[in-house]
Amino acid sequence: MKQIDDGQIKKDDQHYVLHAWAKQKNIHSKMIKKGEGVFFWDESGKKYYDMCSQLVYLNVGHNHPKLMEEFRHIGEIPLAAPGFATASKAELARKIIEVAPKNMAKVFFANGGADSNDHAVKIARMATGRYKIFSRYRSYHGATFGAGNLSGESRRFVVEPGIPGFIKFDTPYLYRESIDFESEEAATAFYLDRLNNQILYEGPDSIAAIFMEPIPGSNGVLVPPKGYLEGVRKLCDKYGILMICDEVMSGFGRTGKMFAVDHFDFEPDIMTFAKGVTCGYSPLGGVIVSEKVAQYFDDHVLMTGLTYSGHTVSAQIGCATLDIYKEEHLIDHAAAMGEVLAERLEKLYRFASVGDVRHIGLFAAVELVKDKATKEPLIAYGLDYGKDTVGLMSRFVGLLSENGFYTYSHESSVMIAPPLIITERQINEAMDIFENVLAQFEKNDLF
Ligand code: PLP
Repeated sequence: MKQIDDGQIKKDDQHYVLHAWAKQKNIHSKMIKKGEGVFFWDESGKKYYDMCSQLVYLNVGHNHPKLMEEFRHIGEIPLAAPGFATASKAELARKIIEVAPKNMAKVFFANGGADSNDHAVKIARMATGRYKIFSRYRSYHGATFGAGNLSGESRRFVVEPGIPGFIKFDTPYLYRESIDFESEEAATAFYLDRLNNQILYEGPDSIAAIFMEPIPGSNGVLVPPKGYLEGVRKLCDKYGILMICDEVMSGFGRTGKMFAVDHFDFEPDIMTFAKGVTCGYSPLGGVIVSEKVAQYFDDHVLMTGLTYSGHTVSAQIGCATLDIYKEEHLIDHAAAMGEVLAERLEKLYRFASVGDVRHIGLFAAVELVKDKATKEPLIAYGLDYGKDTVGLMSRFVGLLSENGFYTYSHESSVMIAPPLIITERQINEAMDIFENVLAQFEKNDLF
């Protein structure tokens, strides 16, 4: 490849590239010059722990040798439009069904997370003949117009007033709930009762699907209370509503099991995925449907499609990625390393600014507060994405980064989701950095 001077790259980036979720003035993007496992190096040679796997997708880590080798064979496969059968698409679909919940039967391939969710909505509407879609506050399902309407946080404001028939309900968020529940079961009963009411108010016969991240990720790794997801499943069965689980961030080992739903005792009707299927080495997403949903389309036209559905190259990378999870026992490793991380996270409560820590596997969030007693959040809801005028969280993640711990934040929560290949020693080293930065911030009264 032609060598271009770093200064020129950064200049062109600033002049010609529109950057997502950001004011464009004064963007000074760093570069990644090299990546290896859980680390990457910027243009100055500085080394970072990648503690958010870029955007929670690099599960197998940077520069994985098997995937690098796979790229050397890319040119050998003919490109083919979606109507053709190809070896990589057929193999990947089979491999995904083999690791998905037992009731799952077929895969529709898309390009990434958001468009997978758009297609899931269309599939649910077609299969049920109903039009309303329930999804939750404190969820993120992507930035396309459809997925933006599904999302239940501030990033959806730009698509409002939005699509009629997209209804929001509450996500259990026990740390910030005004009721102090005596048990998880009591919380579950409360949230399910409210959802049942909302279904009745909206008219069950008009509701095609309930759409949810089984464990909301970007909104702070909100692990649901006991029995909650199983209860939603029961409500779906009662009213003939399809249950759709967005596993775009939580899928492929992130939580210490293949899919987040595997932690619970229910099966969804539809699941969406992206990120970990190829770990971002090539863009790919998709919709997995149950036998029952698949059968509907035996005699009805599947009225959707994409130019690159099942793209030959991405599917080939997907096959190799799924082999890596198996060959390197990455799911079991993630579960074991999740316990190491959990131990470090639970110790963070000794810091005055740590309100809550939530974690499952290598999927974690640390929620910071101005005042532990009142739980006053560092950043009020809706004030992120350019409106956090004081810049508290960006200052905090900036200082983390300066100290070699790279991650991002959303509202007052800091994401911790390293590549699944991370070792015990590396977790401890990275968490030492996190604690030192937290201590520095508190000492200098920066919060
Ligand atoms: N769904 C969830 C749960 C996500 O976390 C994301 C992205 O972070 C998306 C969907 C959107 O995926 P993409 O950015 O690939 O469109």
